[in-house]
Amino acid sequence: MKEVDESGRVAILQRGRERCVLCPHLCRTDRAAGEKGFCRLGAEMVIHSALPHHGEEPPLSGSRGAGTIFFSSCNLRCRYCQNHQISHFPAGQTVSVEELTGIMLALAAKGCHNIEPVTPTPHLPGIMAATLAARRQGLRLPLVFNCGGYEREKIIGLLAGMVDIYLPDFKYGIAEAGRLFSGVRDYPRHALASLKEMVRQVGDELSTEEGIAQRGILVRHLVLPGHVDNSLAVLKLIREVSPYVPLSLMSQYTPIPAVARHPQLGRRVSRKEYEQVVNAACDMGFEELYTQEVDDRELVPDFDRDRPFDWDGK
Ligand code: SF4
Repeated sequence: MKEVDESGRVAILQRGRERCVLCPHLCRTDRAAGEKGFCRLGAEMVIHSALPHHGEEPPLSGSRGAGTIFFSSCNLRCRYCQNHQISHFPAGQTVSVEELTGIMLALAAKGCHNIEPVTPTPHLPGIMAATLAARRQGLRLPLVFNCGGYEREKIIGLLAGMVDIYLPDFKYGIAEAGRLFSGVRDYPRHALASLKEMVRQVGDELSTEEGIAQRGILVRHLVLPGHVDNSLAVLKLIREVSPYVPLSLMSQYTPIPAVARHPQLGRRVSRKEYEQVVNAACDMGFEELYTQEVDDRELVPDFDRDRPFDWDGK
């Protein structure tokens, strides 16, 4: 079968938006004509902000920050979303492909170590078009695909050779948890299939140069209070793919106002719960773990501020 070049694959993504099948929701709305699906996004890309981010894992943030571009809205609607101010609806400014290209080049000029679109999936056609344009104009930084894990294997397949580092969440190993908390019935199946495709493309490690990530994968999992069983199921599924996949196990869950009174989601994760998950990851043979302290610090960004991550002091 004839291999399609990168521009051809961006064109396929653009057509994928005309009866939108960019993610497992398969809404089949004509977003190019302005119709909206589950993600509430029409034809335009919407971003909240773009900035050097010093709060990512060390190989991504380095000393000069990850070049994060926060896209608005999402193809998941997690009840507890730590970015809920921008992920539950399209809040922010619309940008064209040309404007996004300029934003990527500006982040590079600031010295960022990579370009990291956050929640890229519904905006993929524009993001990949801008990436190719920025590369034609001299961009040499790795592209980091920071997504929620609810992806279509087929769409991820179109990104081969264009994405350097995959940074997916793996939120649920138990389908029922995905249904209860994010409103999707089939999260584990899609997350696992797309993870396999990501690993096929970039391998099961994160390669670095002078401590800065250049290529590979890092899987994130936010431990939820009262759901150690879900976390253990996540670990088992990732282990099926490879024990060498680097894992970032996050303890920073903080209840947002919408779930403050929820019987399970209304509290922080306990040290005991978090340690159970970390110990299980070690027992399963995962070799590269990024872990966090369990403490009272609130690490929820505030997107009403100019600098949403002011808690990291940058
Ligand atoms: S990207 Fe949005 S419109 Fe397209 S299938 Fe996913 S949720 Fe539906």
